[in-house]
Amino acid sequence: MKQIQMVDLVTQYEKIKSEVNTATQEVFQTAQFINGPEVKAFQSELEQYLNVKHVIPCANGTDALQIALMALGLKPGDEVITSDFTFAATVEVIGLLNLTPILVDVNRDDFNISIEAIKKAITPKTKAIIPVHLFGQCANMDAIMEIAKEHNLFVVEDTAQAIGAVYTTKDGEKHAAGAIGNVGTTSFFPSKNLGCYGDGGALYTNDDKLAAIIRSIVNHGMGKRYYYDRLGVNSRLDSVQAAVLRIKLRHLDTYIQSRQTAAQFYNDYFKNIAEIETPVIADNSTHVFHQYTLKIKGLDQFKLQTYMQEKGIPAMIYYPMPLHTQEAYGADNFKHEDFAITNELCESVISLPMHTELDSEQLNYICSNLVDYIKNSK
Ligand SMILES: *Cc1c(COP(=O)(O)O)cnc(C)c1O
Repeated sequence: MKQIQMVDLVTQYEKIKSEVNTATQEVFQTAQFINGPEVKAFQSELEQYLNVKHVIPCANGTDALQIALMALGLKPGDEVITSDFTFAATVEVIGLLNLTPILVDVNRDDFNISIEAIKKAITPKTKAIIPVHLFGQCANMDAIMEIAKEHNLFVVEDTAQAIGAVYTTKDGEKHAAGAIGNVGTTSFFPSKNLGCYGDGGALYTNDDKLAAIIRSIVNHGMGKRYYYDRLGVNSRLDSVQAAVLRIKLRHLDTYIQSRQTAAQFYNDYFKNIAEIETPVIADNSTHVFHQYTLKIKGLDQFKLQTYMQEKGIPAMIYYPMPLHTQEAYGADNFKHEDFAITNELCESVISLPMHTELDSEQLNYICSNLVDYIKNSK
């Protein structure tokens, strides 16, 4: 059996090697490393794929979030509501801009931001909500957009883990994750569902004015050449990464299918195991399985992780610590008991290997070892 990895980018590369090598060589030969034709081509191909008016590439997913908040013109002290159960970057950028992060609890089922918790957290200072489409599945965007409309709030969708997911609104319209709020942001970090071979990210929007502001911010706040209209940053996707992304975008739907097939294998195997809760699929969103995350009942997830590692199976705890307990994000401002679900999840989740190259021998090995552990620990 081939060694099991949490994410197997080497085997994936082997299958697209000649395409990638040709495309990247071409970039080397034309030496248009920054803002070359590959970047423009990728931008418009991603616009088509997502069916959004504007894609603005940038240097990474964290920058994308920061630039989104900068573009909305928020003022220091404005409150931004986001999820307590996410990757740190989402909250970090709020603090970096001297905005106030208001963390709220999540749903137990789908790990996404709780609508009830958002409603409770709104104050006159609230200016934006950042739903994170965690692990590959969209948050409840119908409800979030309704709240945003009622309270005149911006919505920035953190789509770093859910590129390719499709959300169906209550009117039956289908939208790409990230194309519903004012701005969507994503990451092309290598292990993300659409990953490049270094760092990369993008913002999406259907709003022409906002797109123009974002385009200016990623390029030092420049409007006309050498006229600086606002403070910006230097955040760009380089041409080599764009060349890789153009190729991988053509395979993205197949990659998503491979992840869904692996998830189905896991689901079927664990169906009758009382100690394991498999991921819940929402009615209104497809699931692109950036992570395949179980909730484990009555077992210590860290002991399980160690056992799996001894068997040559990587498994990760995403995430072991609620963000409201972190010094950097104003732990003192939050009450631990307001985060009952996140607190519980941090003590019960474990993510199994999930990528595009898992074969049934590997899947069988992972599942049988996990089930053996549970039987033996009774
Ligand atoms: C990966 C990730 C980011 C940050 O992306 P980078 O490209 O690593 O900066 C932001 N939010 C979430 C939810 C992520 O998973």
